[in-house]
Amino acid sequence: MQVDTLIRNAQVALESGVSRLDVGIRDGRIAALSAGSDGIEAGETIDAAGKLLLPGAIDIHFHCRAPAYPQRGDFATETRAAAAGGVTSVFEMPISKPCCSTGDVFRMRKALGERDAYVNFGLYGAPGLLDRDEIADMVAEGAIGFKIFMTAAPKGRDDEFEGLCLPDVPELYQALRLVAETGLVCAVHAENNQLLEWHTAQLIKANRNDVPAHGESRPPHVEALAIATLLALNESIGADLHIAHVSGAEALAVIRRFQATGSAVSAETCPHYLFFTEDDLGRVGPYAKVNPPMRTAADQAALWQGLLDGSLMSITTDHSPFTVEEKERAREDIWATPPGAPGVEELLLGVMHEALGGRLSVNQAVELLATNGAKRFGVYPERGHIGIDAAADLVIYDPNTETTIHRDMLFSKARDCDKLYAGMTFKGAVERTIVNGKTVFLRGEIVGSAGDGQFVRPNAASVSREF
Ligand SMILES: [Zn+2]
Repeated sequence: MQVDTLIRNAQVALESGVSRLDVGIRDGRIAALSAGSDGIEAGETIDAAGKLLLPGAIDIHFHCRAPAYPQRGDFATETRAAAAGGVTSVFEMPISKPCCSTGDVFRMRKALGERDAYVNFGLYGAPGLLDRDEIADMVAEGAIGFKIFMTAAPKGRDDEFEGLCLPDVPELYQALRLVAETGLVCAVHAENNQLLEWHTAQLIKANRNDVPAHGESRPPHVEALAIATLLALNESIGADLHIAHVSGAEALAVIRRFQATGSAVSAETCPHYLFFTEDDLGRVGPYAKVNPPMRTAADQAALWQGLLDGSLMSITTDHSPFTVEEKERAREDIWATPPGAPGVEELLLGVMHEALGGRLSVNQAVELLATNGAKRFGVYPERGHIGIDAAADLVIYDPNTETTIHRDMLFSKARDCDKLYAGMTFKGAVERTIVNGKTVFLRGEIVGSAGDGQFVRPNAASVSREF
């Protein structure tokens, strides 16, 4: 057999467990998986003895916002960051200017991604214009799913969120009915808008504009109540829902109650909730302003438990690049700075650090980072695992070294906003990232090109409800 690339002697993370194998890649796909390479001829041979070979991570919650605000980041800069982090597919959220809520905007953003992306990308659509034809148009173009915010747009950013925010329940009801017709997954940012506006108003009345005030404006019940409202409303509709960025125990408890009675709802959490708490706000300041806010150590423990028992099925970044100037506005007034932090370069490192430390198995890590998301959004078995005929989206991970995060090694345009992780040391390193059979990142350098990433479209028939 002739292959383009042969990766020899790696510890390969198959779905059945980790095995020492040789992996052959031909025409961008995995063509051989064998205990030896007898009879295989390769254009290029990579010796990966002592290294892990993992499916590339699939970040199902990602923002670059192109073409809006290129100073924050674009498909090129932020997918280079993804490649450096071992993330081989990103599912980009619809927040942009204009917001991705029509077929025309969807086509424009898809063309941008196809031109600029270094890793594969899917695109969510926003259904909030409540226009069945536009929704159908986005589905026909290959929308990976939909996204709804139960909150109003952040202050001063209405244009980026037009068609995305449904704080009024009757409109939310209509949107859920429309997305239910598509068979695709709808991710929801669940926070109760009236409650958080009330809490915020109380804090402002008390002259609070310091960093911790932001967390106090969105206590756990703000998130839990929104999830309960959403899932109760959806009982008679049956849209396929996915709760974005679950931040703590109360929200998780509500999700579990609905899952126990058979609701079609999956949920994710993010590394910033798993590795940090509200105590880090003092150290990081406004750079750690995220929605929902980071919570307590007890919440963090509950999230890890949720990941291990399957009530949370994915770890996603919510990677959100902004400029230093935008984040520094909070020194004067926390309410004036946009929520979000970068994190795509630390996703795989953080989770593999925990796997190598024994908190979870390598296989569980791979499921949470790649396989479960691929199954949930209908892109498995094309992506999300290592198997014959799957796309060769792979990471060679060196477990025998460590990585200490510093801004000079980061590729995100928002590297100077990446204060949460600065100085942290993780077990292991992303040595090589391969996208569709081509190496795009190698030992600290981007070696791929804009356009190496492919547009990822879902197969609605294979969207999984088992999680
Ligand atoms: Zn987000």
